[in-house]
Amino acid sequence: MSSVAIPVLLAAAGLATGSFLNVCIHRLPRSRSVVRPASACIACGRPLRWYENVPVAAWLALRGRCRTCGARIPAAYLLVELATPALFLVQYSMLGWQPLLAARLLLCAALIVLFVTDLRQRMLPDSVTLSGIGAGLAAAVVVEPAWWDALLAAAAGGGLLLAVARTYALLRGEEGLGMGDIKMLAMIGAFLGWQLTFVALLLATLLGSAVGIGMLALGLADRRYPLPFGSFLAVGAVAATMLGEPLIAWYLTLF
Ligand SMILES: [Zn+2]
Repeated sequence: MSSVAIPVLLAAAGLATGSFLNVCIHRLPRSRSVVRPASACIACGRPLRWYENVPVAAWLALRGRCRTCGARIPAAYLLVELATPALFLVQYSMLGWQPLLAARLLLCAALIVLFVTDLRQRMLPDSVTLSGIGAGLAAAVVVEPAWWDALLAAAAGGGLLLAVARTYALLRGEEGLGMGDIKMLAMIGAFLGWQLTFVALLLATLLGSAVGIGMLALGLADRRYPLPFGSFLAVGAVAATMLGEPLIAWYLTLF
């Protein structure tokens, strides 16, 4: 394929995927099928016409409102439809056209869903995290990380976070991290291997602490406000795919 065809194809695939991810974001936390029924307005239930399903363009043409009932279509829908092709193109620019790209696009899609469901509902659906662990381990048979690295990272990442969660619960007498976070880190481990997973966890913790301290300082939340750690993990994992290898290389020069 020519050098223009692949990015155009990926952008189109990203737009279509983003549209599907919005369906997943809306339905998976409610344990509903993402295949049937066809897309409908989330307020009045009217089935959408084909042109109302066109990613990005439909939202802009409707100015973010349902044509029938006037209910607002959250801007998050538009952001997901834009972020998906953007992340697809970023991954392509780093990896080029190779089998690993398919695994990374799948990971990005799962992370987008988890980012939004945790942010909005403090929920990380098993249907994403558990199938993600399976997909990541299966992909590692063919592409990097090596299968043993994927397995190790999934087990160690999940185990480490489980230990942190247990310790926290013991000390504070309340749940700080849920099982969803643990399964999500195991999924990231299966896709990225132990080194990049460690970077993802580190970046997520730094980001989560910064946001938490910022919100406390600005009086936007008190100490009991549940931070969406899964959303921070999603950002950390995407950042790790982009910055992880230079970061690790730089760290190793310190010795
Ligand atoms: Zn409506």
